[in-house]
Amino acid sequence: MLKRLVIGLLALVLLLAAVLVGNTLRQGSRQRSFPPRPPLAVDAEAVAQSLAVALRARTVSGLLDPAGTAQAFDQLQAHLRARYPRVHAALALERVGNHTLVYRWPGRDPKLQPVALLAHQDVVPIAPGTEALWKQPPFDGRVEGGFVWGRGALDDKANVITQLEAVEALLTAGFQPQRDVYLVFGHDEEVGGAQGAAQVVKLFQQRGLKLAFVLDEGMAVTEGILPGVARPIALIGLGEKGSVTLKISASAAPGHSSMPPTQPATSAIGRLSAALARLDRAPMPGGIQGAAGELFAVVAPELPFGQRLAMSNLWLLRPLVERMLEKGAATNALMRTTTAMTVLNAGNKDNVLPGRADALVNFRILPGDTADGIVAHVKRAVADEAVEVAPIGAAFPASRLSAADGPAYRTIERAIREIYPEDIVAPGLTLQGTDSRHFEAVADQVYRFMPIRFKPEDLPRLHGTDERIAVTQLPEAVRFYHRLLQLAAGPTPAEGPTP
Ligand SMILES: [Zn+2]
Repeated sequence: MLKRLVIGLLALVLLLAAVLVGNTLRQGSRQRSFPPRPPLAVDAEAVAQSLAVALRARTVSGLLDPAGTAQAFDQLQAHLRARYPRVHAALALERVGNHTLVYRWPGRDPKLQPVALLAHQDVVPIAPGTEALWKQPPFDGRVEGGFVWGRGALDDKANVITQLEAVEALLTAGFQPQRDVYLVFGHDEEVGGAQGAAQVVKLFQQRGLKLAFVLDEGMAVTEGILPGVARPIALIGLGEKGSVTLKISASAAPGHSSMPPTQPATSAIGRLSAALARLDRAPMPGGIQGAAGELFAVVAPELPFGQRLAMSNLWLLRPLVERMLEKGAATNALMRTTTAMTVLNAGNKDNVLPGRADALVNFRILPGDTADGIVAHVKRAVADEAVEVAPIGAAFPASRLSAADGPAYRTIERAIREIYPEDIVAPGLTLQGTDSRHFEAVADQVYRFMPIRFKPEDLPRLHGTDERIAVTQLPEAVRFYHRLLQLAAGPTPAEGPTP
Protein backbone atom coordinates (compact mmCIF):
# COMPACT_ATOMS: atom_id res chain seq x y z
CA MET A 1 0.00 0.00 0.00
CA LEU A 2 2.77 2.39 1.02
CA LYS A 3 4.80 1.36 -1.99
CA ARG A 4 1.91 2.12 -4.30
CA LEU A 5 1.48 5.54 -2.67
CA VAL A 6 5.16 6.36 -3.16
CA ILE A 7 5.05 5.25 -6.79
CA GLY A 8 1.88 7.30 -7.29
CA LEU A 9 3.48 10.42 -5.75
CA LEU A 10 6.63 9.93 -7.80
CA ALA A 11 4.54 9.70 -10.97
CA LEU A 12 2.75 12.93 -10.04
CA VAL A 13 6.04 14.74 -9.44
CA LEU A 14 7.41 13.51 -12.76
CA LEU A 15 4.23 14.57 -14.53
CA LEU A 16 4.42 18.05 -12.97
CA ALA A 17 8.09 18.36 -13.93
CA ALA A 18 7.23 17.32 -17.50
CA VAL A 19 4.46 19.95 -17.66
CA LEU A 20 6.76 22.69 -16.29
CA VAL A 21 9.59 21.84 -18.68
CA GLY A 22 7.16 21.39 -21.57
CA ASN A 23 5.69 24.86 -20.98
CA THR A 24 9.21 26.30 -20.78
CA LEU A 25 10.43 24.73 -24.02
CA ARG A 26 7.27 25.68 -25.90
CA GLN A 27 8.05 29.39 -25.38
CA GLY A 28 10.20 30.20 -28.42
CA SER A 29 11.93 33.55 -28.78
CA ARG A 30 9.59 36.37 -29.82
CA GLN A 31 12.44 38.36 -31.35
CA ARG A 32 11.86 39.00 -35.03
CA SER A 33 14.76 38.97 -37.49
CA PHE A 34 15.21 41.13 -40.54
CA PRO A 35 17.73 40.94 -43.37
CA PRO A 36 20.81 43.01 -42.58
CA ARG A 37 21.02 46.39 -44.31
CA PRO A 38 24.09 48.41 -45.17
CA PRO A 39 24.41 51.03 -42.41
CA LEU A 40 23.76 54.66 -43.28
CA ALA A 41 27.03 56.58 -43.44
CA VAL A 42 27.09 59.03 -40.53
CA ASP A 43 29.92 61.42 -39.62
CA ALA A 44 30.02 60.75 -35.87
CA GLU A 45 32.41 63.62 -35.16
CA ALA A 46 30.19 66.14 -36.98
CA VAL A 47 27.10 64.98 -35.07
CA ALA A 48 29.05 65.20 -31.81
CA GLN A 49 30.08 68.77 -32.63
CA SER A 50 26.50 69.71 -33.46
CA LEU A 51 25.31 68.30 -30.14
CA ALA A 52 28.14 70.10 -28.34
CA VAL A 53 27.03 73.43 -29.79
CA ALA A 54 23.43 72.68 -28.74
CA LEU A 55 24.60 71.99 -25.17
CA ARG A 56 26.17 75.46 -24.92
CA ALA A 57 22.70 77.04 -24.95
CA ARG A 58 21.54 77.23 -21.30
CA THR A 59 17.95 76.28 -22.04
CA VAL A 60 17.13 75.64 -18.38
CA SER A 61 13.38 75.40 -17.85
CA GLY A 62 11.81 77.12 -14.88
CA LEU A 63 14.63 79.64 -14.76
CA LEU A 64 13.83 82.87 -12.90
CA ASP A 65 15.34 85.02 -15.63
CA PRO A 66 12.91 84.71 -18.56
CA ALA A 67 14.91 87.09 -20.77
CA GLY A 68 18.06 85.01 -20.32
CA THR A 69 16.18 81.82 -21.12
CA ALA A 70 14.60 83.35 -24.22
CA GLN A 71 18.07 84.20 -25.45
CA ALA A 72 19.25 80.64 -24.78
CA PHE A 73 16.40 79.18 -26.85
CA ASP A 74 17.15 81.66 -29.65
CA GLN A 75 20.80 80.61 -29.52
CA LEU A 76 19.87 76.91 -29.76
CA GLN A 77 17.40 77.49 -32.59
CA ALA A 78 19.86 79.62 -34.58
CA HIS A 79 22.24 76.67 -34.40
CA LEU A 80 19.55 74.26 -35.64
CA ARG A 81 18.75 76.56 -38.60
CA ALA A 82 22.41 76.86 -39.57
CA ARG A 83 23.27 73.18 -39.17
CA TYR A 84 20.11 71.71 -40.80
CA PRO A 85 19.40 73.89 -43.87
CA ARG A 86 17.45 71.25 -45.81
CA VAL A 87 15.15 70.63 -42.84
CA HIS A 88 14.47 74.34 -42.60
CA ALA A 89 13.84 74.61 -46.34
CA ALA A 90 11.54 71.59 -46.75
CA LEU A 91 9.63 71.49 -43.46
CA ALA A 92 7.11 74.08 -42.28
CA LEU A 93 8.03 75.47 -38.86
CA GLU A 94 5.63 76.88 -36.28
CA ARG A 95 6.46 78.19 -32.82
CA VAL A 96 4.14 77.46 -29.93
CA GLY A 97 4.46 79.11 -26.51
CA ASN A 98 7.35 81.21 -27.91
CA HIS A 99 10.02 78.48 -27.94
CA THR A 100 8.43 75.10 -28.67
CA LEU A 101 9.16 74.08 -32.26
CA VAL A 102 6.66 72.21 -34.42
CA TYR A 103 8.08 71.06 -37.76
CA ARG A 104 5.75 69.59 -40.36
CA TRP A 105 7.18 67.56 -43.21
CA PRO A 106 4.37 67.32 -45.75
CA GLY A 107 3.65 63.83 -47.03
CA ARG A 108 2.42 62.97 -50.51
CA ASP A 109 -0.90 61.52 -49.31
CA PRO A 110 -2.86 63.89 -47.05
CA LYS A 111 -5.38 61.13 -46.29
CA LEU A 112 -2.83 59.15 -44.24
CA GLN A 113 -2.50 59.85 -40.52
CA PRO A 114 0.71 61.69 -39.63
CA VAL A 115 3.36 60.40 -37.23
CA ALA A 116 5.17 62.57 -34.67
CA LEU A 117 8.62 62.34 -33.14
CA LEU A 118 9.05 64.26 -29.88
CA ALA A 119 12.08 65.55 -28.01
CA HIS A 120 12.63 68.52 -25.72
CA GLN A 121 15.01 71.46 -25.87
CA ASP A 122 14.91 72.40 -22.20
CA VAL A 123 17.13 70.94 -19.48
CA VAL A 124 17.04 70.77 -15.70
CA PRO A 125 19.27 73.15 -13.72
CA ILE A 126 22.53 72.11 -12.11
CA ALA A 127 21.88 71.32 -8.42
CA PRO A 128 23.35 74.16 -6.31
CA GLY A 129 26.86 73.39 -5.15
CA THR A 130 27.47 70.56 -7.64
CA GLU A 131 28.75 72.54 -10.66
CA ALA A 132 32.35 72.22 -9.49
CA LEU A 133 32.02 68.43 -9.31
CA TRP A 134 31.61 68.12 -13.09
CA LYS A 135 34.66 66.75 -14.91
CA GLN A 136 33.76 69.11 -17.80
CA PRO A 137 31.73 72.30 -17.26
CA PRO A 138 28.02 71.54 -17.85
CA PHE A 139 27.39 74.33 -20.38
CA ASP A 140 30.67 74.41 -22.30
CA GLY A 141 29.66 71.72 -24.78
CA ARG A 142 32.96 69.88 -24.87
CA VAL A 143 33.83 66.72 -26.80
CA GLU A 144 36.46 65.01 -24.66
CA GLY A 145 37.69 61.44 -24.25
CA GLY A 146 35.08 60.02 -26.64
CA PHE A 147 32.11 61.72 -24.96
CA VAL A 148 30.02 64.82 -25.51
CA TRP A 149 29.70 66.39 -22.06
CA GLY A 150 27.03 68.67 -20.72
CA ARG A 151 23.57 69.14 -19.27
CA GLY A 152 21.11 67.79 -21.82
CA ALA A 153 23.56 65.39 -23.53
CA LEU A 154 21.25 62.47 -22.68
CA ASP A 155 18.10 64.30 -21.64
CA ASP A 156 17.15 65.28 -24.25
CA LYS A 157 19.20 67.25 -26.78
CA ALA A 158 20.79 64.10 -28.23
CA ASN A 159 17.31 63.21 -29.50
CA VAL A 160 16.68 66.70 -30.93
CA ILE A 161 19.99 66.57 -32.80
CA THR A 162 19.85 62.97 -34.05
CA GLN A 163 16.23 63.36 -35.25
CA LEU A 164 17.22 66.45 -37.25
CA GLU A 165 20.33 64.65 -38.58
CA ALA A 166 18.11 61.78 -39.76
CA VAL A 167 15.63 64.08 -41.55
CA GLU A 168 18.49 66.10 -43.10
CA ALA A 169 20.02 62.83 -44.40
CA LEU A 170 16.66 61.66 -45.80
CA LEU A 171 16.15 65.01 -47.55
CA THR A 172 19.68 64.86 -48.97
CA ALA A 173 18.82 61.45 -50.43
CA GLY A 174 15.63 62.85 -51.99
CA PHE A 175 13.24 61.00 -49.67
CA GLN A 176 9.68 62.28 -49.46
CA PRO A 177 7.31 60.80 -46.91
CA GLN A 178 3.91 59.43 -47.89
CA ARG A 179 2.32 60.70 -44.68
CA ASP A 180 3.01 63.94 -42.82
CA VAL A 181 5.81 63.72 -40.30
CA TYR A 182 5.89 66.07 -37.30
CA LEU A 183 8.90 66.86 -35.16
CA VAL A 184 7.81 68.50 -31.89
CA PHE A 185 10.56 69.93 -29.68
CA GLY A 186 9.10 71.20 -26.40
CA HIS A 187 10.68 73.93 -24.29
CA ASP A 188 9.17 73.20 -20.85
CA GLU A 189 9.05 69.39 -20.58
CA GLU A 190 11.01 69.39 -17.34
CA VAL A 191 8.33 71.55 -15.69
CA GLY A 192 5.30 69.69 -17.06
CA GLY A 193 4.91 70.87 -20.66
CA ALA A 194 1.93 73.17 -20.01
CA GLN A 195 3.17 75.96 -22.33
CA GLY A 196 4.71 73.65 -24.93
CA ALA A 197 3.44 70.11 -25.55
CA ALA A 198 -0.01 70.74 -24.04
CA GLN A 199 -0.55 73.76 -26.34
CA VAL A 200 0.68 71.84 -29.39
CA VAL A 201 -1.93 69.18 -28.64
CA LYS A 202 -4.64 71.87 -28.37
CA LEU A 203 -3.56 73.21 -31.76
CA PHE A 204 -3.66 69.70 -33.28
CA GLN A 205 -7.13 69.20 -31.80
CA GLN A 206 -8.37 72.48 -33.28
CA ARG A 207 -7.12 71.29 -36.66
CA GLY A 208 -8.77 67.90 -36.23
CA LEU A 209 -5.45 66.09 -36.46
CA LYS A 210 -5.26 62.45 -35.45
CA LEU A 211 -1.81 60.87 -35.39
CA ALA A 212 -0.93 57.25 -36.31
CA PHE A 213 1.57 57.21 -33.47
CA VAL A 214 3.84 59.35 -31.32
CA LEU A 215 7.37 58.47 -30.21
CA ASP A 216 9.06 60.30 -27.34
CA GLU A 217 11.91 59.82 -24.86
CA GLY A 218 11.33 57.73 -21.76
CA MET A 219 12.81 54.28 -22.25
CA ALA A 220 16.05 53.28 -23.95
CA VAL A 221 18.40 50.39 -24.63
CA THR A 222 19.19 49.14 -21.14
CA GLU A 223 21.98 46.90 -19.99
CA GLY A 224 22.12 44.89 -16.79
CA ILE A 225 18.66 45.74 -15.46
CA LEU A 226 17.28 42.18 -15.48
CA PRO A 227 19.35 39.63 -13.56
CA GLY A 228 20.36 36.74 -15.80
CA VAL A 229 19.97 38.66 -19.06
CA ALA A 230 23.36 39.62 -20.48
CA ARG A 231 22.04 40.98 -23.79
CA PRO A 232 20.90 44.61 -23.84
CA ILE A 233 17.13 45.07 -23.77
CA ALA A 234 15.58 47.86 -25.83
CA LEU A 235 12.43 48.81 -23.96
CA ILE A 236 9.55 50.47 -25.77
CA GLY A 237 7.51 52.26 -23.11
CA LEU A 238 3.81 51.54 -23.62
CA GLY A 239 2.81 54.12 -21.05
CA GLU A 240 4.02 56.14 -18.13
CA LYS A 241 3.20 56.28 -14.45
CA GLY A 242 1.30 59.15 -12.89
CA SER A 243 2.01 60.86 -9.61
CA VAL A 244 0.05 62.03 -6.59
CA THR A 245 1.25 63.26 -3.20
CA LEU A 246 -0.87 62.71 -0.09
CA LYS A 247 -0.57 64.67 3.11
CA ILE A 248 -1.13 62.48 6.14
CA SER A 249 -1.70 64.39 9.39
CA ALA A 250 -2.34 63.61 13.03
CA SER A 251 -3.45 66.13 15.66
CA ALA A 252 -3.31 66.03 19.46
CA ALA A 253 -3.58 68.46 22.35
CA PRO A 254 -0.35 70.48 22.47
CA GLY A 255 1.31 70.74 25.82
CA HIS A 256 4.46 70.73 27.91
CA SER A 257 6.77 67.76 27.49
CA SER A 258 6.91 67.24 31.27
CA MET A 259 3.47 65.56 31.30
CA PRO A 260 3.09 63.61 28.01
CA PRO A 261 0.08 61.41 27.25
CA THR A 262 0.26 58.00 28.88
CA GLN A 263 -1.37 55.91 26.15
CA PRO A 264 0.87 54.83 23.23
CA ALA A 265 0.26 56.50 19.86
CA THR A 266 -1.82 59.37 21.22
CA SER A 267 0.66 62.23 20.79
CA ALA A 268 0.58 63.80 17.32
CA ILE A 269 3.98 62.33 16.48
CA GLY A 270 3.20 58.94 18.00
CA ARG A 271 -0.14 58.73 16.21
CA LEU A 272 1.32 59.73 12.83
CA SER A 273 4.30 57.37 13.27
CA ALA A 274 2.00 54.43 14.00
CA ALA A 275 -0.11 55.30 10.95
CA LEU A 276 2.99 55.53 8.72
CA ALA A 277 4.33 52.23 10.06
CA ARG A 278 1.02 50.54 9.10
CA LEU A 279 1.14 52.16 5.65
CA ASP A 280 4.74 51.02 5.21
CA ARG A 281 3.61 47.42 5.66
CA ALA A 282 0.73 47.80 3.18
CA PRO A 283 2.04 48.43 -0.34
CA MET A 284 -0.53 48.99 -3.08
CA PRO A 285 -1.53 45.69 -4.67
CA GLY A 286 0.38 44.77 -7.83
CA GLY A 287 1.82 41.93 -9.82
CA ILE A 288 2.80 40.64 -13.23
CA GLN A 289 0.08 42.29 -15.31
CA GLY A 290 -0.32 45.26 -17.63
CA ALA A 291 3.05 46.52 -18.90
CA ALA A 292 4.93 44.14 -16.56
CA GLY A 293 2.96 41.23 -18.00
CA GLU A 294 3.78 42.33 -21.57
CA LEU A 295 7.46 42.76 -20.71
CA PHE A 296 7.94 39.40 -19.02
CA ALA A 297 6.01 37.54 -21.72
CA VAL A 298 8.48 38.83 -24.32
CA VAL A 299 11.61 38.54 -22.18
CA ALA A 300 10.85 35.11 -20.65
CA PRO A 301 12.14 33.05 -23.61
CA GLU A 302 15.46 34.94 -23.44
CA LEU A 303 16.10 34.09 -19.77
CA PRO A 304 18.40 31.34 -18.43
CA PHE A 305 16.57 28.02 -18.01
CA GLY A 306 15.66 28.30 -14.32
CA GLN A 307 14.15 31.78 -14.64
CA ARG A 308 12.54 30.82 -17.93
CA LEU A 309 10.89 27.86 -16.25
CA ALA A 310 9.50 30.08 -13.50
CA MET A 311 8.28 32.76 -15.96
CA SER A 312 6.74 30.17 -18.28
CA ASN A 313 4.74 28.60 -15.45
CA LEU A 314 3.10 31.55 -13.78
CA TRP A 315 -0.10 29.47 -13.48
CA LEU A 316 1.70 27.65 -10.65
CA LEU A 317 4.65 29.80 -9.60
CA ARG A 318 3.15 33.32 -9.83
CA PRO A 319 3.25 34.11 -6.07
CA LEU A 320 6.87 32.95 -5.83
CA VAL A 321 7.99 34.89 -8.93
CA GLU A 322 6.16 38.05 -7.87
CA ARG A 323 7.72 37.92 -4.41
CA MET A 324 11.17 37.68 -6.00
CA LEU A 325 10.52 40.55 -8.41
CA GLU A 326 9.12 42.74 -5.62
CA LYS A 327 12.51 42.68 -3.93
CA GLY A 328 14.14 44.66 -6.77
CA ALA A 329 13.33 48.39 -6.68
CA ALA A 330 13.07 48.61 -10.49
CA THR A 331 10.94 45.51 -11.00
CA ASN A 332 8.76 46.44 -8.01
CA ALA A 333 8.12 49.90 -9.52
CA LEU A 334 7.07 48.20 -12.75
CA MET A 335 4.47 46.06 -11.01
CA ARG A 336 2.64 48.43 -8.68
CA THR A 337 1.86 51.97 -7.61
CA THR A 338 4.81 52.76 -5.35
CA THR A 339 4.64 54.43 -1.92
CA ALA A 340 7.49 56.82 -1.04
CA MET A 341 7.51 58.70 2.26
CA THR A 342 9.35 61.88 1.43
CA VAL A 343 8.66 64.64 4.00
CA LEU A 344 7.99 64.58 7.73
CA ASN A 345 7.12 67.68 9.79
CA ALA A 346 6.30 68.06 13.47
CA GLY A 347 7.38 70.08 16.46
CA ASN A 348 9.76 72.98 16.75
CA LYS A 349 10.97 72.85 20.35
CA ASP A 350 12.36 69.96 22.32
CA ASN A 351 10.18 70.58 25.39
CA VAL A 352 6.84 71.19 23.64
CA LEU A 353 4.42 68.49 22.45
CA PRO A 354 3.31 69.57 18.95
CA GLY A 355 -0.40 69.87 18.22
CA ARG A 356 0.07 68.47 14.74
CA ALA A 357 2.35 66.18 12.76
CA ASP A 358 2.34 65.94 8.94
CA ALA A 359 3.91 63.60 6.44
CA LEU A 360 4.04 63.82 2.65
CA VAL A 361 3.89 60.54 0.79
CA ASN A 362 4.46 60.45 -2.96
CA PHE A 363 2.78 57.73 -5.00
CA ARG A 364 3.77 56.89 -8.58
CA ILE A 365 0.56 55.68 -10.13
CA LEU A 366 0.52 52.53 -12.22
CA PRO A 367 -1.68 52.70 -15.35
CA GLY A 368 -5.04 51.36 -14.15
CA ASP A 369 -4.81 52.84 -10.65
CA THR A 370 -6.29 56.23 -9.73
CA ALA A 371 -5.61 58.93 -7.12
CA ASP A 372 -9.02 58.24 -5.53
CA GLY A 373 -8.22 54.55 -5.27
CA ILE A 374 -4.90 55.37 -3.62
CA VAL A 375 -6.58 57.64 -1.03
CA ALA A 376 -9.03 54.83 -0.20
CA HIS A 377 -6.17 52.33 0.12
CA VAL A 378 -4.18 54.65 2.41
CA LYS A 379 -7.19 55.29 4.65
CA ARG A 380 -7.73 51.54 4.98
CA ALA A 381 -4.04 50.91 5.71
CA VAL A 382 -3.76 53.76 8.22
CA ALA A 383 -6.92 52.46 9.95
CA ASP A 384 -7.27 55.51 12.20
CA GLU A 385 -10.27 57.80 11.65
CA ALA A 386 -8.48 60.62 13.44
CA VAL A 387 -5.60 60.64 10.95
CA GLU A 388 -6.34 62.88 7.96
CA VAL A 389 -5.43 61.79 4.45
CA ALA A 390 -5.72 64.28 1.58
CA PRO A 391 -4.03 64.87 -1.78
CA ILE A 392 -1.96 68.05 -2.13
CA GLY A 393 -0.70 69.79 -5.26
CA ALA A 394 -1.48 68.69 -8.78
CA ALA A 395 -1.88 64.96 -9.39
CA PHE A 396 -0.88 63.55 -12.76
CA PRO A 397 -2.95 60.54 -13.72
CA ALA A 398 -1.13 57.54 -15.19
CA SER A 399 -1.19 57.35 -18.97
CA ARG A 400 -3.08 54.76 -20.96
CA LEU A 401 -1.14 51.72 -22.11
CA SER A 402 -0.51 51.60 -25.84
CA ALA A 403 -0.65 48.28 -27.67
CA ALA A 404 2.31 45.91 -27.34
CA ASP A 405 1.57 44.80 -30.87
CA GLY A 406 -0.02 46.29 -33.95
CA PRO A 407 1.50 48.27 -36.82
CA ALA A 408 2.94 51.21 -34.86
CA TYR A 409 4.64 49.05 -32.21
CA ARG A 410 5.88 46.68 -34.91
CA THR A 411 7.38 49.55 -36.89
CA ILE A 412 9.37 50.86 -33.93
CA GLU A 413 10.38 47.31 -32.98
CA ARG A 414 11.58 46.64 -36.52
CA ALA A 415 13.67 49.82 -36.70
CA ILE A 416 15.32 48.87 -33.40
CA ARG A 417 15.99 45.28 -34.47
CA GLU A 418 17.53 46.44 -37.73
CA ILE A 419 19.88 48.89 -36.04
CA TYR A 420 20.58 46.82 -32.90
CA PRO A 421 20.24 43.22 -34.18
CA GLU A 422 21.87 41.75 -31.07
CA ASP A 423 19.47 43.36 -28.63
CA ILE A 424 16.21 42.08 -27.23
CA VAL A 425 13.23 44.35 -27.93
CA ALA A 426 10.45 44.31 -25.35
CA PRO A 427 7.58 46.48 -24.14
CA GLY A 428 8.15 48.46 -20.93
CA LEU A 429 6.74 51.16 -18.68
CA THR A 430 8.23 54.63 -18.19
CA LEU A 431 8.45 55.56 -14.52
CA GLN A 432 8.84 59.34 -15.02
CA GLY A 433 6.65 61.84 -16.81
CA THR A 434 7.27 62.90 -20.42
CA ASP A 435 5.68 65.39 -22.83
CA SER A 436 4.13 62.47 -24.69
CA ARG A 437 1.37 61.99 -22.11
CA HIS A 438 -0.29 65.16 -23.47
CA PHE A 439 -0.53 63.48 -26.88
CA GLU A 440 -2.98 60.78 -25.78
CA ALA A 441 -5.70 63.23 -26.84
CA VAL A 442 -4.55 63.09 -30.48
CA ALA A 443 -2.98 59.62 -30.80
CA ASP A 444 -4.17 56.17 -29.75
CA GLN A 445 -0.63 54.80 -29.78
CA VAL A 446 2.00 56.73 -27.81
CA TYR A 447 5.41 55.10 -27.30
CA ARG A 448 8.49 56.05 -25.33
CA PHE A 449 11.87 54.95 -26.63
CA MET A 450 15.12 56.75 -27.31
CA PRO A 451 17.89 55.03 -29.26
CA ILE A 452 20.52 55.45 -26.55
CA ARG A 453 22.25 52.77 -24.46
CA PHE A 454 22.08 53.04 -20.70
CA LYS A 455 24.12 51.08 -18.20
CA PRO A 456 23.05 51.21 -14.55
CA GLU A 457 25.96 53.59 -13.80
CA ASP A 458 24.63 56.06 -16.40
CA LEU A 459 21.33 56.61 -14.58
CA PRO A 460 22.70 59.03 -11.93
CA ARG A 461 23.98 61.25 -14.76
CA LEU A 462 20.38 62.00 -15.79
CA HIS A 463 19.47 65.23 -13.98
CA GLY A 464 22.77 64.65 -12.10
CA THR A 465 26.48 65.38 -12.41
CA ASP A 466 28.65 64.56 -15.46
CA GLU A 467 25.82 64.06 -17.92
CA ARG A 468 27.44 62.85 -21.14
CA ILE A 469 26.91 60.64 -24.17
CA ALA A 470 29.48 58.50 -26.00
CA VAL A 471 30.26 59.82 -29.49
CA THR A 472 29.89 56.24 -30.80
CA GLN A 473 26.24 56.23 -29.75
CA LEU A 474 25.28 59.14 -31.97
CA PRO A 475 25.50 57.41 -35.39
CA GLU A 476 23.34 54.55 -34.08
CA ALA A 477 20.71 57.03 -32.94
CA VAL A 478 20.74 58.82 -36.32
CA ARG A 479 20.42 55.46 -38.10
CA PHE A 480 17.50 54.46 -35.88
CA TYR A 481 15.49 57.63 -36.60
CA HIS A 482 16.44 57.46 -40.29
CA ARG A 483 15.20 53.88 -40.59
CA LEU A 484 12.13 54.52 -38.44
CA LEU A 485 11.05 57.39 -40.69
CA GLN A 486 11.60 55.29 -43.82
CA LEU A 487 9.41 52.56 -42.33
CA ALA A 488 6.84 54.78 -40.63
CA ALA A 489 6.31 57.36 -43.32
CA GLY A 490 5.11 54.83 -45.90
CA PRO A 491 1.47 54.11 -46.76
CA THR A 492 1.04 51.60 -43.95
CA PRO A 493 3.56 51.54 -41.12
CA ALA A 494 5.73 48.58 -42.09
CA GLU A 495 4.68 45.16 -40.91
CA GLY A 496 7.60 42.80 -40.75
CA PRO A 497 7.48 38.99 -40.81
CA THR A 498 6.32 37.37 -37.62
CA PRO A 499 8.86 35.10 -35.93
ZN1 LIG B 1 13.66 64.40 -20.76
